[in-house]
Amino acid sequence: MKITFLGTAAATACPLVFCRCPVCRLAWKTGGPDFRRRSSVLIGDDLLIDLGPDLMGSAFAFGADVSKIRFLLQTHSHSDHFDAGHLITRLPDYATEDPLPLEICASAETLRHMSDALAREETGATLLAEDWQARLRLSIHPLRHGDSVTLGNRRVTAVESNHDPRDGSALYIVEEGGRAFFYATDTMRLTDRAWALFLERGFAFDAIAIDATYGPGAQGGGHLSADEAAEEIARMRAEGILKPEGRAFITHISHEGTPPHAELERFGRERGFEVARDGLTLEL
Ligand SMILES: [Zn+2]
Ligand SMILES: [Zn+2]
Ligand SMILES: [Zn+2]
Repeated sequence: MKITFLGTAAATACPLVFCRCPVCRLAWKTGGPDFRRRSSVLIGDDLLIDLGPDLMGSAFAFGADVSKIRFLLQTHSHSDHFDAGHLITRLPDYATEDPLPLEICASAETLRHMSDALAREETGATLLAEDWQARLRLSIHPLRHGDSVTLGNRRVTAVESNHDPRDGSALYIVEEGGRAFFYATDTMRLTDRAWALFLERGFAFDAIAIDATYGPGAQGGGHLSADEAAEEIARMRAEGILKPEGRAFITHISHEGTPPHAELERFGRERGFEVARDGLTLEL
């Protein structure tokens, strides 16, 4: 399984547009790992997790042919993860030529909110009616916590997230060729039902990428800090949910309390995690 991190930032991206601090100046100057686009991941060349606002720029930067995407897993509908302006271009009116069929998996709530966002782009547009699905050349699969679905040669399982229950936010396990990857953003502490699901189904992940929106010791709402993420990762390793040789990354990294990438990597080495950066690819 090939995994490409197209973006590793939280909603605000990094650098911040109006910020004059040393981290932002470093990011602008080097364009290196401190330069983070909004979070999104490509698996193989045809499965995307989150149709985010920075998709075009990151696909160009990292040589991804996004026209090949056949499957979209949407974690939730927040604007840093879902840009309805990309999806609406599948309508013939926008002159997209011969788009491949697209299967979208998300919770029912997220699908409804994605549909509302689509209607703001094009009056009357909806994801929930068959005639519009046909015009958009897509199908939808509402998934609840614990539901699994086969997409091509992969198996995908939805896991509930407590990030925004009203939006039905979800995390995803992707299995392919005997390997398992858990993409866990956006989230706070994983729920009891999530831990129970891992154990009941005997998941043993080869890699995970987990929310660490806030830097070490920083406080905020709806997400994890880098130290909290380290504790979730440690518990996964202790319970065998993450294989001993499995790799743990933090992602969805904001500017709030977060030191430069190199410093965050040092912090992570001491606590058993790696720091994802835009363009990072993994071969599991
Ligand atoms: Zn987010
Ligand atoms: Zn700054
Ligand atoms: Zn969010």
